[in-house]
Amino acid sequence: MNRKLVILDRDGVINADSDAFIKSPDEWVAIPGSLEAIARLNQSGYRVAIASNQSGIGRGLFDMAALNAMHQKMNRAVAAVGGRIDAVFFCPHTAEDQCDCRKPRPGMLQQIIDRFEIDPEDTPVVGDSLRDLQAGAALGFPVHLVLTGKGEKTLKEGQLPEGTVVHKDLRAFALEFLARHQDRSAAQ
Ligand SMILES: [Mg+2]
Ligand SMILES: [Zn+2]
Repeated sequence: MNRKLVILDRDGVINADSDAFIKSPDEWVAIPGSLEAIARLNQSGYRVAIASNQSGIGRGLFDMAALNAMHQKMNRAVAAVGGRIDAVFFCPHTAEDQCDCRKPRPGMLQQIIDRFEIDPEDTPVVGDSLRDLQAGAALGFPVHLVLTGKGEKTLKEGQLPEGTVVHKDLRAFALEFLARHQDRSAAQ
């Protein structure tokens, strides 16, 4: 079984984020280069899973049909550049629900470990918010911050988990991660 996997946050990493939430397919707009980055990871043998807080559902700002429609748009857009997203995990709860899946809690990432039978040590988690990195670090994933979305603000606010690697955007992450991995395979 192929256990090469990359875990991505969605809003601010793949698509532009909004403080008013992304509530409909029309509001879902890819960040330039992000879809191609996913395809590039796929071409190097990595599957891609998403772990996304979607408290807009719990707040009643949009419903499951709208979320599914957004993901259909996302999947089509990724497919159009030759890529594929293997799974989308999301937390529909609000902070008041005290669930285990809302990042920074690690429940969603634990579900991904179980589903894909992966080793966290070998699996990068990419996000634009501190809570993405905290959830990953809690389970021993290497964590990567991108400066799109809330990323610049996250970097400025500091408190990043030890070992956080910073990249301009998802495109830069994919290129840098794959280059480093290929260097390592070549050296073996
Ligand atoms: Mg985000
Ligand atoms: Zn949850």
